[in-house]
Amino acid sequence: MSANPQLVKYRMWIGGEWVDAASGAHFSSDDPFLGKPWASIPKGGAEDADRAVRAAHRALVTGPWPKMTASQRGALLRRLGDLIAPESKRLAEVEVRDNGKLYAEMSAQTAYMAQWYYYFGGLADKIEGAVIPSDKSDTFNYTRHEPVGVVVAIVPWNSPLLLTAWKLAPALAAGCTVVIKPSEFTSASILEFAKLIEQAGFPPGVVNIVTGFGADVGMPLVEHPLTGKVAFTGSERTGALVYQQAAKGLKRVTMELGGKSPNIVFDDAEIDNAVKGVISGIFAATGQTCIAGSRLLVQRSVHDQFVEKLVAFARTAKMGNPMHADTQVGPVTNPPQYRKILDYMAIAKGEGAKAVLGGDKATRPECGEGWFVEPTIFTGVSNRMRIAQEEVFGPVLSVIPFDDEDEAVAIGNDVVYGLAAGVWTQSMRRAFRMAEQLQAGTIWVNTYRAVSYLSPFGGYKRSGIGRESGQEMIREYLQTKSVWISLASEVPNPFIMR
Ligand code: NAD
Repeated sequence: MSANPQLVKYRMWIGGEWVDAASGAHFSSDDPFLGKPWASIPKGGAEDADRAVRAAHRALVTGPWPKMTASQRGALLRRLGDLIAPESKRLAEVEVRDNGKLYAEMSAQTAYMAQWYYYFGGLADKIEGAVIPSDKSDTFNYTRHEPVGVVVAIVPWNSPLLLTAWKLAPALAAGCTVVIKPSEFTSASILEFAKLIEQAGFPPGVVNIVTGFGADVGMPLVEHPLTGKVAFTGSERTGALVYQQAAKGLKRVTMELGGKSPNIVFDDAEIDNAVKGVISGIFAATGQTCIAGSRLLVQRSVHDQFVEKLVAFARTAKMGNPMHADTQVGPVTNPPQYRKILDYMAIAKGEGAKAVLGGDKATRPECGEGWFVEPTIFTGVSNRMRIAQEEVFGPVLSVIPFDDEDEAVAIGNDVVYGLAAGVWTQSMRRAFRMAEQLQAGTIWVNTYRAVSYLSPFGGYKRSGIGRESGQEMIREYLQTKSVWISLASEVPNPFIMR
């Protein structure tokens, strides 16, 4: 299939060159607000995956990259960070074009992502090995932390550049080389970002970007014998497939997967603040975020009052063009996701939940031809319903009442996921108790959606394996080597283990 000339045409970036797919095929990327294609993306396949992993492997073992000191790698990362600021608005525009999220949010994200490159740039030369106190006479034993090899970074469509930064910055700081596989729905911003990587002066092949569909190009990247690690963010279903395949080659993995996070409101909470926190947890980003607080657990004594305030606030949310500064809820990113959300709304109704707000597609005139659904609140939900157990990845909130703290913990933990949880209370003692008992990688108390380059992020249970951000996670891209050096003038008896 040849590219439609009306569309913005992109090329992949492999081995420091801008290339088409080996097959010459393209696919189109849609603008979710207009519901129409706007960009043409190379449709990579196994041959392109092989080319990219080989380029990354060449750059790992030959040329300037492995000879660079950690300080030099850090300087390159910081230079990349510097290049982001003047381009962050343009990158955000491309991202909005591709995934329909609010410009206000995406521009804040693209500006903030520079921090990951600064932070890991700074960390690169602070990774120290150890001198081990040897129990063998006349030997010197020390450790080195070395890169795990070629990293395949597979990212989803909801925050393409930020989630790429979470993998790329630490992987490069550790000395790895990287092949990025963007989502087929949102490849453009990552391809635009490659221009900054090129400008920063990373040697060819250190970063490569291969576009296309998961089965065509993602899986061959995972299976490639020269791939050392797979850093995956996406759905639990695909994550399990990738994990299984990586296991066959005994490859390292980190997995950032889905969630069904509880946002828990106690009767001693500051109710107006909690309402805002619940709204931001589920309707920001049109609910298309892994950390969506999609289950509202509210103490029965304030249930009716809280739901009334929540519905009144949510009802005012302004929908429309995601580029407009006053839009609060944008479109859904792609048609399969749009259908999935509508299906879940039908499932919830079939299960007996009551839509006290929304519950259907949005047909407001300001929504045009885009894929919009109404911000939705279901009451009468029990935690056993599918709407309470399965990730919708849309602006759909399930409200579940509870009586006391123990019940809140029990319901909060009664899902297969464990990505995040919110707690709204004025009691400090309760806050600490809840933070200890909730099974999730991130707990927010009287706030929601706070993330930082400084703080580890990741999932308990089926929400993931490993962590991203923060100091400890650079280890996910390193392996430890133990070096023994004999200082003895004579090699002892060879038949006795030392
Ligand atoms: P997805 O699993 O459909 O796709 C994610 C990536 O995997 C895409 O690049 C896709 O092309 C690729 N892929 C698909 N099939 C593949 C295969 N067989 N082999 C290799 N790669 C394959 O997820 P999505 O719909 O793009 O994203 C939404 C999901 O991501 C949600 O479940 C959300 O919770 C999750 N997510 C998690 C986090 C986190 O940090 N925990 C952050 C954002 C999104």
